[in-house]
Amino acid sequence: MQTETVVENPYRQLFLAQQANSISLRAQSWKARRKLLKGFLAFVTDNRSRIHQALNADLGKSEIETDISEVYPVVTELKHAINNLSNWVQPEPVDAPLTFLGTTSEVQYEPKGVCLIIGPWNFPFNLTLGPLVSCLAAGNTAILKPSEFTGNTSRLIRELVQEYFQEDQVAVIEGDADTAAQLLKLPFDHIFFTGSTAVGKIVMRAAADHLSSVTLELGGKSPTVIDSSANLRDAAKRIAFGKFLNVGQTCVAPDYVLIDKAVEREFIELLQQSIISLFGVDGHLTPQSPHYGRIINSRNFNRIDTLVQDAIRLGATVELNGTSDAAQRFFHPVILSGVAVDSKIMAEEIFGPVLPILSYTHEDEILPIIQSRPKPLAFYIFSTRSAFRQKLTDAVSAGAVCMNDCVLQFSHPNLPFGGVNASGFGKAHGRHGFLAFSNEKPVLKQKRGLTMSSFLYPPFNNRVKRTINLMLRWL
Ligand code: NAD
Repeated sequence: MQTETVVENPYRQLFLAQQANSISLRAQSWKARRKLLKGFLAFVTDNRSRIHQALNADLGKSEIETDISEVYPVVTELKHAINNLSNWVQPEPVDAPLTFLGTTSEVQYEPKGVCLIIGPWNFPFNLTLGPLVSCLAAGNTAILKPSEFTGNTSRLIRELVQEYFQEDQVAVIEGDADTAAQLLKLPFDHIFFTGSTAVGKIVMRAAADHLSSVTLELGGKSPTVIDSSANLRDAAKRIAFGKFLNVGQTCVAPDYVLIDKAVEREFIELLQQSIISLFGVDGHLTPQSPHYGRIINSRNFNRIDTLVQDAIRLGATVELNGTSDAAQRFFHPVILSGVAVDSKIMAEEIFGPVLPILSYTHEDEILPIIQSRPKPLAFYIFSTRSAFRQKLTDAVSAGAVCMNDCVLQFSHPNLPFGGVNASGFGKAHGRHGFLAFSNEKPVLKQKRGLTMSSFLYPPFNNRVKRTINLMLRWL
């Protein structure tokens, strides 16, 4: 007879400690949560220079870029939660229809319990700690699993969490996919995952074992349409910023451009100038430029390079390029025109500093290209024609639409952030993030004595029949 060896999950004790704490946290007032968030705010603001150093070491980010894309989003999320928590936690009364006469009902927001937050490497500080704000605002405990590819930032997050939180409220486990797989075996009450669509599927399968709820913040190809009415100078500058910030390693970066052929040439020239003037120094973009970062690792460097080579082999024209340096993971911005729709670069998320440009002669060529691909995380439309913008907005299912700008929708505190189907589901940020980590619990209170519902109790005689007929007809 074989004896089965049961290997204990290394994180079970931590999980159980958080579970016990999460039960006691249910009795805590929202003011205690707000106090915790204020401490969290100090965690970020008091350690800015350590955050700068970590992000520079991991992704070659400049201090200002780190402030804009890592520190500021977490700080605004925190301030927004601190200022609005007293409203978010209030039970929401709902009206009673005639059939519920006498009852009073409301929706109460209860914490889900113990949550797992798995973060990506591209904005490793922002996208691991941003969800933690909503998680704590909603009264939960959390285990964080930051990305293994940004070791300096992940270590800093662990050290700061140890300094500022009790382990049974927030804990950090560093590690790779195997570590994440161990964590996913535990019965979390909610899992908030940010990363690739492929891993999102693995996370969702694991969550199914415990019926843990999930928020999946995934990626995809975000299309950018530019028509001939657009202000091309503005479009070029905004797209240059949104696409080449973080060296294109941004989930909401414009992935490809679909432009009216009549203005394609002018746009390409403006885009070339914008990229160099935003990210270069003295008209050149070299590894010495302090405004431009690095590709996360050699695997991604080679993957992006292969996409470019494949597009060129299939006939694309290189409109902008420069000397890249694989050893330093410095990938010079690339613009491609005349890209074949069936090239690899149009099949997978680019997630790098390469912008393919496709042109159309008739507007009816636009939608088939977008609609034949999975639903994107973001859809950008540059046009001064409101009817055109609305037509595209109605036709395309996307996580978000942003008109005459890009990426900006991510940081709006009152807009839900998230994808749809392949680009993810569940919403983050502000009140939407608070709701993602809360159970919206309906609470109904019935009055004493005769109630409307008692007219429907058995025996099912003619009186009940008349009542239900009346209800079906009039109520
Ligand atoms: P990834 O999916 O490779 O990794 C994300 C996290 O999942 C990491 O912490 C990693 O350790 C973990 N992981 C990896 N393999 C796993 C497995 N088999 N089981 C469990 N966990 C596993 O993603 P990434 O490369 O870090 O990030 C890039 C992707 O993330 C892009 O597709 C991008 O579009 C997407 N993204 C989406 C958003 C958003 O908000 N929607 C934001 C940033 C990045």
